[in-house]
Amino acid sequence: MKIGFIGLGNMGAPMAANLVQAGHEVVGFDLAAPCPAGVTKAATAGEAATGAEVVITMLPNGAILRAVAAEVIPAMVPGAVLCDCSTVDVESARAVAEQAAKAGLGALDAPVSGGVGGATAGTLTFMVGGTAEAFATVEPLFAIMGQKAVHCGAPGAGQAAKICNNMILGVTMIATCEAFALADKLGLDRAKMFDVVSTSSGYSWTMNAYCPAPGVGPKSPADNGYKPGFAAELMLKDLRLSQQAAEAVDADTPMGQQAAALYARFVEEEGGKGMDFSAMLPRFENRSRE
Ligand code: NAD
Repeated sequence: MKIGFIGLGNMGAPMAANLVQAGHEVVGFDLAAPCPAGVTKAATAGEAATGAEVVITMLPNGAILRAVAAEVIPAMVPGAVLCDCSTVDVESARAVAEQAAKAGLGALDAPVSGGVGGATAGTLTFMVGGTAEAFATVEPLFAIMGQKAVHCGAPGAGQAAKICNNMILGVTMIATCEAFALADKLGLDRAKMFDVVSTSSGYSWTMNAYCPAPGVGPKSPADNGYKPGFAAELMLKDLRLSQQAAEAVDADTPMGQQAAALYARFVEEEGGKGMDFSAMLPRFENRSRE
C-alpha cells in the first residue's frame, strides 16, 4: 500500500518504521523530526499525501491536525482514507471527518494506547471512530502497528474512548499515589502494600502494571527516576480534553475535574513537567494534609 505519514515524532517514527518493515511504501513529512530509515521524505504534508491510499497523521493537538488536514485533504485521491492517530478533542476529529467526507474521502479518528514502547513493538491498541468501510481499509495497517483495533462507532467515537480511558488512568494514578503516601505515614511497608492491593479489590493497572513506588512491583518509570514513560504534561493534556468534552455535553465528572486540577498544579507550579505521570507519588510523599 502507498501510505503518507505526517508527524514523525516519538510515536509516529516507530509506527512508520513498522509499516516500512512490513513492506509498505511510506512517504513521510514532519516539520522538525527526521524520517526513520526506509521512509521517503516529502517536502510538504500535501506532497506526502499525494497518491496515497491511506494518510496517517500523528500530531500534537487538534489545532495542528485541523491545519494539516486543510492542506492534505485537497491533495488526496478520492476514495483514500485519512486516519488520524493523534489524541485530539472530539470536535476537531468530527470536523476533519466531515471535511474529508465532503471531498469524497474516508476518515478515521484512531487514537492509540500503549505509548512509545507499544509503538516500537507494534503492540498498540487503536480505538477507532468512522465508517465501517474506512475501518476495513486501514485494518491491515492497524494489525501491523498494533495488537488490537476496536471499531468504536461513528466519527469522534475513537477520541471519546481514548479520553474516557485516560480520565480513568489519571484518577486511578492519583488514588494509587495518595494511598501509598498514606500507607507510608501509617508505617506500612510499601512491598506489603503492593502485595495486598495488587491482589485485592484496590488493584488497577496503575498499581499492578505501572506501580508508582520504586523497587515495588514490575519495572516501571518509578525505577528509572520517574523519567517518562508517559509524561505528566501528556496526562494533563488528556485530562483537559476529557473536561472540555464533559463541558460540551454537560457530563458531571467531579473526579476527572479534580485530577485535571491536580495535574495542572503538578505540571505548572510544582516541577512535574518532564517527569513521568507516576511522579505524583513523590509529590504526595512530601506534603501535609491541606
Ligand atoms: P511528538 O511531539 O514527539 O511528535 C509530534 C510530531 O509532530 C513532532 O515531530 C512535530 O515536529 C510534528 N509536527 C508538529 N506540527 C506539525 C505539522 N504542522 N506538520 C508536520 N509535523 C508536525 O509527540 P508524540 O509523543 O509522538 O505524540 C503524538 C500524538 O500521540 C499526541 O497527540 C499524543 O497525545 C499522542 N500519544 C502519545 C503517547 C506517548 O506516550 N508519547 C501515547 C499515546 C498517544
